[in-house]
Amino acid sequence: MKFDIAIIGGGLAGLTCGIRLAERGKRCAIISAGQSALHFSSGSLDFLSYLPDGSVVKHPLNVLDDLARQSPQHPYALLGADCVSQMAEQAERLLINCGLSFTGNVSENHMRMTPLGTLRATWLSPTEVPTSAIDKPLPWKRIAIIGIEGFLDFQPQLAAGSLADKGIEVMTDYLHVPALDRLRNNPSEFRATNISRVLDLVENTELLAEELARLAQDVEAVILPACVGLDNPDAVALLRRRVGKPIMLVPTLPPSLLGIRMHQSLRRRFQQLGGQFMPGDAVLRADLDGDKVKKLYTRNHTDIPVTAEHVVLASGSFFSNGLVADFDRTYEPVFGLDMITESQRADWTKDNMFSAQPYLRFGVKTDNQLHGMIDGKPVTNLFAIGAVLGGYDPLQQGCGAGVSLVSAQYVAEQILATSEVTA
Ligand SMILES: Cc1cc2nc3c(=O)[nH]c(=O)nc-3n(C[C@H](O)[C@H](O)[C@H](O)COP(=O)(O)OP(=O)(O)OC[C@H]3O[C@@H](n4cnc5c(N)ncnc54)[C@H](O)[C@@H]3O)c2cc1C
Repeated sequence: MKFDIAIIGGGLAGLTCGIRLAERGKRCAIISAGQSALHFSSGSLDFLSYLPDGSVVKHPLNVLDDLARQSPQHPYALLGADCVSQMAEQAERLLINCGLSFTGNVSENHMRMTPLGTLRATWLSPTEVPTSAIDKPLPWKRIAIIGIEGFLDFQPQLAAGSLADKGIEVMTDYLHVPALDRLRNNPSEFRATNISRVLDLVENTELLAEELARLAQDVEAVILPACVGLDNPDAVALLRRRVGKPIMLVPTLPPSLLGIRMHQSLRRRFQQLGGQFMPGDAVLRADLDGDKVKKLYTRNHTDIPVTAEHVVLASGSFFSNGLVADFDRTYEPVFGLDMITESQRADWTKDNMFSAQPYLRFGVKTDNQLHGMIDGKPVTNLFAIGAVLGGYDPLQQGCGAGVSLVSAQYVAEQILATSEVTA
């Protein structure tokens, strides 16, 4: 199987890299073993919410030099401030072209409401998520937070408690939609995505609208767990029209409807552009010839190799098995690439669980063009992007999606530039 580019991993990084390349006519394959971090995410995309010294970031593009000083191995520092801002803007356009709509832009972070009712700085939030400017409260004085009876992955009282502390008058209640009763009988099936598949049916959306109109009588806005609109992106807009008030969604515990919906849109766009998505397959090993990857061998295609001019490693971090931790070492399993890591296990974690954890910064070490390296030498047709990269802490710095999107766009542009030179 021969492609221009083979991408290992179909999460946010792999898909957006593949989309950019396919938009420019490249023949791309994405081989993707399993679910990605999007399936577990908030659905909001962080670019840079906090500097390593803990300060909150309001204007991310203005602090990239500070970031490079505080964290010289950070992928943004490797690429440089001008490149990072260009690639972030390109990523915003790419997401819109996939039919996704967001609040926010890279010049100014905003606050999004979390399921606990707290506010967290981020870059882009799905338009249904409650947001405010960075120093401002949510735009309503009186809201209803509505749970779903029997649904354990969102507790309205928890969110209400935090918002009440901020001076918002909050009413809590539960939806009564009989169509959910059958699903409710099996608690392990009573999850955000399954609930949405029931509520999104036209006949049930009407019942839901009636129920919300009743609950929304005395408030300015209604906040629901994100259990509506998985396969029908217009469902929330329809509810808003029927109720006549803002209907907002907050992320739940996984599975994340907002993240899965994003994954579906990206995958659809990639495939519409002619990209080949190979779900449920995993790259197990590679043949190298000198400084180039020649062949990839996958679990499903056994001895039929995948060959490509360029290979992009977008296999995620420990969470997605893009990195592996044994008892005494951490490593990248497909190519055995050089790593940013600590050799002593005792140095992988800090006892205080609220401290920044060193292992979160572990990952593949690259040159400034994001080539993966073996024994200090770049593999010239292999690039690493997204969460598999080392040198940054996506949790403490709030930069996970930003690194994935920026590195994906940067590598796509590198590959396109190389192909133009050789054509
Ligand atoms: C639980 C969780 C929640 C997060 N929530 C947020 C959030 O709300 N906002 C935010 O900005 N960031 C969040 N992040 C950070 C996240 O890492 C990035 O935002 C981004 O989604 C990572 O994308 P990625 O494509 O690099 O990696 P991943 O999403 O991890 O995708 C890697 C993919 O590669 C596949 N894969 C691995 N090995 C192989 C192989 N050998 N062959 C083929 N396929 C392979 C995996 O199955 C997976 O599908 C979260 C991270 C985690 C772990």
